[in-house]
Amino acid sequence: NKPPCECNNCYTGKDCSVHVSDCPVDANSGDPLFLEPFWMRHAEKSAVLVSGWHRMSYRYKGGSFVSEELEKVIRKLHKVVGNAVTDNRFILFGTGSTQLLAAAAHALSLSNSSSSSPARLLASVPFYALYKEQAEFFDSTRLKFEGDTSAWKKSKRNDNNTQVIEIVTSPNNPDGKMKRAVLEGPNVKTIHDYAYNWPYFSPITHQTDEDLSLFSLSKITGHAGSRFGWALVKDKNVYEKMKRYVTLSSMGVSRTTQLYGLQLLKVVVGDGGEEIFHFGYETLKKRWETLNKIFSTSTRFSLQTIKPEYCNYFKKVKDFTPSYAWVKCERLEDTNCYETFRAAKITGRDGKVFGSEPEERFVRLSLIRAQDDFDQLVGLLKKLVPEEAVGV
Ligand code: PMP
Repeated sequence: NKPPCECNNCYTGKDCSVHVSDCPVDANSGDPLFLEPFWMRHAEKSAVLVSGWHRMSYRYKGGSFVSEELEKVIRKLHKVVGNAVTDNRFILFGTGSTQLLAAAAHALSLSNSSSSSPARLLASVPFYALYKEQAEFFDSTRLKFEGDTSAWKKSKRNDNNTQVIEIVTSPNNPDGKMKRAVLEGPNVKTIHDYAYNWPYFSPITHQTDEDLSLFSLSKITGHAGSRFGWALVKDKNVYEKMKRYVTLSSMGVSRTTQLYGLQLLKVVVGDGGEEIFHFGYETLKKRWETLNKIFSTSTRFSLQTIKPEYCNYFKKVKDFTPSYAWVKCERLEDTNCYETFRAAKITGRDGKVFGSEPEERFVRLSLIRAQDDFDQLVGLLKKLVPEEAVGV
């Protein structure tokens, strides 16, 4: 008995076989379903069966909220990929890296020596909108979102008395660039958001060795819905403060999620990441080739370009194949790039959300969704970009 079919918005009918012509496409969310075919191939190995009487306690034996096995496999994963040093690091789990971002900003704002002025949270434009949204929503008296790092640096307000927290996203969401910290000084603390620092999206150029870095299951296995992330933290004090945040906000991370994460990551590291990273990289490379062809002769729209680099994981020079296309509307008459795409039935994410100025005219298109979504996106892009550019 087949379950009732949940058709995506481009198909209809009992078995989802009837194509709806010209249906709109969702290129907004970063749902990482491009890895779904890999997990279909490994349905058995990745499956987890949990009986009702299993894992009922809050804590593991010994009183911890953390699965030691999962911690071990995470250290192994970083070793296999070569993307982060885990020696002399505490590992903290969170309900997605979303929770850990809030925990990190909270922990670092507590080390603010100036009691009169809140710590300032900054990121370089374009930045992932959640940083700003979280800080403004939680509205702590100890933390204020200040905006763009370069603007702050230029304004010379960095007087060494104000505690500054810079979030460095590398590769960056939305544009895929390898960002580096902009601010420095004794009063500057840094959070490195490495959600996309995996061989699918960017060459692995070095082993990162930062004080506080964040990773997410969402972008390594694609299981965004399991809500699991981890932090590598050098300083015990900062780690303890972050741990307290996670304990008070959710009493640790779901043990069922930890079990599932363990099973998935064991599959990933089982062959040294060989199959999943090749599959994921090749999928995105093909998508970028298609996209680059469509946009190659367009004078109306442009895509970001990032030079290939040597990847220590693949042991070859590799192209950047970021999760998102950061599309610029070059013509002045396209005053609202997001709306230009919406009119062509493509819903992306408005560049303004990432802190870019409206006159810069950007829209972000997600390339990590399911193949059907990507194919539909390509069909609509071929109509939108000028005729002469459509050679694919
Ligand atoms: N950081 C960045 C840069 C992201 O793009 C995302 C998710 N899109 C996150 C963090 C949050 O990831 P998670 O699903 O682990 O909460």
